[in-house]
Amino acid sequence: MGQQQMTAKLLIVEDEQALSELLRYNFEAEGFRVTHCESGEEAEIIVAEETPDIIVLDWMLPSVSGIELCRRMRSRPETRNIPIIMLTARGEESDRIRGLNTGADDYVVKPFSVPELMARVKAILRRSAPDRVAEVLNVADIELDRSAHKVTRGPREVHLGPTEFRLLEYLMESPGRVLSRSQLLDGVWGRDAFVDERTVDVHIGRLRKALIRGKERDPIRTVRGAGYVFGERAPK
Ligand code: CA
Repeated sequence: MGQQQMTAKLLIVEDEQALSELLRYNFEAEGFRVTHCESGEEAEIIVAEETPDIIVLDWMLPSVSGIELCRRMRSRPETRNIPIIMLTARGEESDRIRGLNTGADDYVVKPFSVPELMARVKAILRRSAPDRVAEVLNVADIELDRSAHKVTRGPREVHLGPTEFRLLEYLMESPGRVLSRSQLLDGVWGRDAFVDERTVDVHIGRLRKALIRGKERDPIRTVRGAGYVFGERAPK
């Protein structure tokens, strides 16, 4: 803790174990949620399941190359806009250019420094997914400050437990969008957590209780059979 909080989802596709572990360690320390795989085939499955905010993609992979994966992702509407940073080996000048033609957003040449890659990843995310890297989220009269770990509604400070804080943060990253219970479970508790979907309802209940005083509007709407939406306009 004490670091700038981020919740961006990063997928690392790299078959060199030492490098992928180094990257995972450093990006997790910066608050990223990191998924890693070693092949293009695995990467396609992961991308379809959890839509990363950004992908760090090695050029040289077994079977499907990074460049081929990049091309495939750019050809599909669902994955077309996911930013990709390619890792290339030194001396691949023409390949590098080809990499950008294929649709990579940026590239770094091995060996690179981790802070350099980190800076590029953050620079892209500030454009493509600003809510994932913003320090302060605002939706209507509710403000969530990630670095201060503080929530206010109007002038009043709202005190939340760690799970409710994380839940609110996740909801505020996608205002107006229906989030299913399983999306909330994955996003807040993590994919490997042993909790069921009723747990989500319990914590939504606690969050509402903390957020609403007197006649204040409920910022969370339950969508039957679908999930929850945060921060819609006031009903007429
Ligand atoms: Ca490689």
